[in-house]
Amino acid sequence: MQKRILIIEDEAPIRDMVAFALRRADMLPVSASDAGEAQLAIAEEIPDLILLDWMLPGISGMDLARRLRRDELTRELPIIMLTARGEEADRIAGLEAGVDDYVVKPFSTRELVARIKAVLRRSQGEDSAGVIELGGLRLDGPAQRVFAADEQVHLGPTEYRLLHFFMTHAERVYSRAQLLDHVWGGSVYVEERTVDVHIRRLRKILEAWRLDTLIQTVRGTGYRFSAHSASARP
Ligand code: CA
Repeated sequence: MQKRILIIEDEAPIRDMVAFALRRADMLPVSASDAGEAQLAIAEEIPDLILLDWMLPGISGMDLARRLRRDELTRELPIIMLTARGEEADRIAGLEAGVDDYVVKPFSTRELVARIKAVLRRSQGEDSAGVIELGGLRLDGPAQRVFAADEQVHLGPTEYRLLHFFMTHAERVYSRAQLLDHVWGGSVYVEERTVDVHIRRLRKILEAWRLDTLIQTVRGTGYRFSAHSASARP
């Protein structure tokens, strides 16, 4: 089925260029020039992925990303941010606001389409692993849901992938580069620091059940998911 991609971008030439490239890649582009139009488009039909310009008139891309992450309907929607600013701080802020990836303007439509496909693969790829119970968490692969103490743990698509990888590869240490390979699909565009940002977000979510210590930092090496942690709190 054609993937529905919502482009939220106030500059018409960029919007049109992206829409053209998406159509050529057999995707279905839907355009919005500001947050209001985006909300209407989402209300009409939930897209498979959102391309979000960071510099929008009125409500900023960052605020819109936060709003989408708070809303039950759009909480798990993959978001790729389009940013004119190349600064590390903005990209990290974007990742912390809940976006899954970013593309810096000016970008080639080929690169953009490749990234869209990678993010879609990541968010929809693994659905057949069955149910895994480990360390107080229950991950239902087919339903792509995670539970702690019978409550649903709401995760973004990247945090879900990361936790899924950890739970299927528990007690082993992985470097940031290895995690990028396994969880991000070895995308050459993603920096190692991205791993730290998503680990931080995952831990913050798990904190509500005091399960953040399941994900351990192994100094100088990387990260490990351990259900037998001496430091894990009851
Ligand atoms: Ca703009």
